[in-house]
Amino acid sequence: MSRWPGPKILITVLCVFLLPGNAWAGWLLSENGNAVGDIPVREQEADVFVSIGEMARQLGCYPKTLNDGLLVRKGSASIQVVPNAAAVWLGYEIIPLRRKAFLADQRWWMDSESALLVMEKLLVKSGEKVRLKWNGVGDGSPAPSEEEPRPVAVKPVAPKPRPSDKVVDTAENVSVRWGNHTDRIRMVLEYSGKLSYRDVPGGVEIETDGRVATVSPDPSISIKTVSSEGRWRLSAVASGWVSKSFELDSPRRLVIDFMRPSSSVAPEKPVLASPKPAPIPHKKPARKGKPLVVIDAGHGGKDPGAVANGYREKIIALQIAKRLASHVRALGMDARLTRDDDRYLKLNTRTTLANRWDADAFVSVHLNALPKGRHAKGVEIYIMALPTDKDAMALAKIENAEIVNGSNGNGGDKTDILLSILGDMQQNNKIQESTSFAEALFSSGKSGGLPMRRVAQAPFYVLRGAAMPAVLLETGFISEKSEARLLANPSYQEKLAKAMAKGIAAYLK
Ligand SMILES: [Zn+2]
Repeated sequence: MSRWPGPKILITVLCVFLLPGNAWAGWLLSENGNAVGDIPVREQEADVFVSIGEMARQLGCYPKTLNDGLLVRKGSASIQVVPNAAAVWLGYEIIPLRRKAFLADQRWWMDSESALLVMEKLLVKSGEKVRLKWNGVGDGSPAPSEEEPRPVAVKPVAPKPRPSDKVVDTAENVSVRWGNHTDRIRMVLEYSGKLSYRDVPGGVEIETDGRVATVSPDPSISIKTVSSEGRWRLSAVASGWVSKSFELDSPRRLVIDFMRPSSSVAPEKPVLASPKPAPIPHKKPARKGKPLVVIDAGHGGKDPGAVANGYREKIIALQIAKRLASHVRALGMDARLTRDDDRYLKLNTRTTLANRWDADAFVSVHLNALPKGRHAKGVEIYIMALPTDKDAMALAKIENAEIVNGSNGNGGDKTDILLSILGDMQQNNKIQESTSFAEALFSSGKSGGLPMRRVAQAPFYVLRGAAMPAVLLETGFISEKSEARLLANPSYQEKLAKAMAKGIAAYLK
């Protein structure tokens, strides 16, 4: 077992030379070994950020402002930089950034490592084979047109080294698989090289250069991924459980056994062993071709959701969810509720159930709310992705309150949470399917005479890790007196449920 040293000394050295006021103009970018030009840099919170717009221009791409963000085009490929997100879109793919990108002095700034990665991916997608590098500190003069590499300016500033330059253990090709046993859940990490990890109570913490993607197979095991100083740290912990880890050879493996507490040994309730769902004894072995829709009534128990005009979101959401389930069944599909009474379920339990039941679609039912003084009405359907706008992001923060407020044992670093939510989506290529699903619901709502507002997107934690098309249905605004009254009305609930069930049928059949 080995432990990692902190790269703090290196960062400190960099900071000394990067104090504001230094007369350096930028870093020299090179493409396949050839100098491209100087890119403006700025130091912020002990990290070096580069102008992504200038970088794009010098690489022959077209940056332009889009909504509150930046769009960079090259041929038919594009990346989209969104405010307050530690991730960018590359088409439908989401690339997590090491740090949030930000706008300052009329430029978009991205951390230097992520900028290389993002631009490389964009150029590769547009059909160019490139390798980008920071060569050293430029002198502010225009980029040379000749092919020969320019000498690196003699200045006491070095670019931030690639992670591989650091003296830490580096494991490569790390993959994770899970096994389910009566008395334990086993996690196996396969890798080459040397893995940096340590045991923690109830689990393990590993550190790698690249992000290791995995989804918890069981609500008892909490997976967290954070990035700091160019490295990724993944922790897998079952709090209150005993865990054991050991290494094996050929191929190199780290095995972690999470021992079930003896009282919870329940072989009749197998956990999901990724990637294939475990058998489900309490369900008929064959669904006889009937698609299964899992309907999740938002909030419940100690979590009332939004409260306004004398109504509570958790109560109305459950009423609508139950009606939706019976309309879904009436149309020849199967439906299951994540809760059918007023009980509290953690956000990640909801999709875990849908995965375990091998659902074909997942709908989480909610009621929207706006702060005092703001008014809106209508039905909104959300998929999980980078936020459409500020309102969508604000809504996601409200619906994510459970994790943002730290009841998951996290101190509530919203940036890290957002980053890990978005990062997890990379392995979930359901964005396009979820969008079609949302659009089917929207058009069915329209033909059903409902006040349909929009299809939008935001990073909702409750949709994270769903292995099927998943949407969050905001049935209306509880903060709007007339609409709240309508939403509590059984005949309006019926109308709503009927139209949404038709949309589900249109999508699944
Ligand atoms: Zn809600």
